[in-house]
Amino acid sequence: MNYNDTLDGIKTYEAGKPIELVVREYGVDPKDIIKLASNENPYGTSPKVTQAVKDMADKMFLYPDDSMYVLKEGLAKKFDVKEEEIIIGSGSDQVIEFAVHAKLNSRAKVLMNSITFAMYEIYAHHVGAQVIRTQSREHDLEEFYALYLEHKPEMIFICTPNNPTGDAIDSAALKTFLKKIDKDTLVVVDGAYMEYAALKDPSKSVSAKELIAEFENVLYLGTFSKAYGLGGMRTGYGIASGDIIKTLYKLRPPFNITTLSLEAARVALEDEAFVTSSIEKNFQQMKRYEKFASELGLEIIDSYTNFVTICLNEKQNSSEISLSLLKKGMIVRDLKGYSLNAVRVTIGTEEENTRFFELFKEVTGN
Ligand SMILES: *Cc1c(COP(=O)(O)O)cnc(C)c1O
Repeated sequence: MNYNDTLDGIKTYEAGKPIELVVREYGVDPKDIIKLASNENPYGTSPKVTQAVKDMADKMFLYPDDSMYVLKEGLAKKFDVKEEEIIIGSGSDQVIEFAVHAKLNSRAKVLMNSITFAMYEIYAHHVGAQVIRTQSREHDLEEFYALYLEHKPEMIFICTPNNPTGDAIDSAALKTFLKKIDKDTLVVVDGAYMEYAALKDPSKSVSAKELIAEFENVLYLGTFSKAYGLGGMRTGYGIASGDIIKTLYKLRPPFNITTLSLEAARVALEDEAFVTSSIEKNFQQMKRYEKFASELGLEIIDSYTNFVTICLNEKQNSSEISLSLLKKGMIVRDLKGYSLNAVRVTIGTEEENTRFFELFKEVTGN
């Protein structure tokens, strides 16, 4: 059958391998499998959230509240913005999809970092838009600006902290950049890991409120999937001027968030202590990775997230190493597909990280 030809060049998004698949394919005992591949919170979900979802279970025969009023109210409070400046998506992924469909078509261009979140390109291809990329591994805003002047893209993606490299932009430099961008260019600032950056280095902390107050063309994205420990509930959000949000709403299917997800996210926002303690533990554990890599003479990209990107040397091949780790039940992310000879490792609990260090040494012969 012939399909829409804009789909021809699309590589299907490869999610971190689920535990079940490793059990089936490699016969590893489920209790020996550690998944450090999808940047989930290794400390799980706040017990208060788990309880709230259980208490809500008898309401799932009802459609959710499509106004999402209660969760919007919580987000409006957290970010000090208005409810009309918020849209909630089935993961921030869905908000990215809305934004791309709202702004791009087959004659349009979109600018993004050389290495960045894969979904930007996939959605851009859905509408046949042309993707322009920088060359630098980390976001270089001067390079972004030069390419912006050259190509005049309709849309720009800035991912800070960036996935899968972990580096983050200085928030003052970001604002200086945004001032130079035409108001008709939609700039998406993806802050999926912003809670981590904010705790590690306030100068990298981008405030959604300040951004949208100053820039009517900026859409800020956040998610409950990472620091809030709700990857399985698929809840993310966009914050922008009322005008952008109203337009994104035209693309939103009704009831795009489940009743249980709305409740989980609402309660998760109220348990800041859980999030803060998860982030503090994350950075304590990150120090162990930095020490480990430096002992092996390997580079780790300075990370403001809950993962580290370990760059391998010429004698090591990231695909082979990831596969060897997988066969031993350790799931990490190979970055070969991003043209980086590196593995991205989600920082786990103390025991999980210790196990990673052991297995990594084993498979690399150190
Ligand atoms: C995880 C992630 C998202 C989206 O997560 P959802 O689970 O869809 O909310 C968006 N951007 C980046 C950079 C991410 O790493």
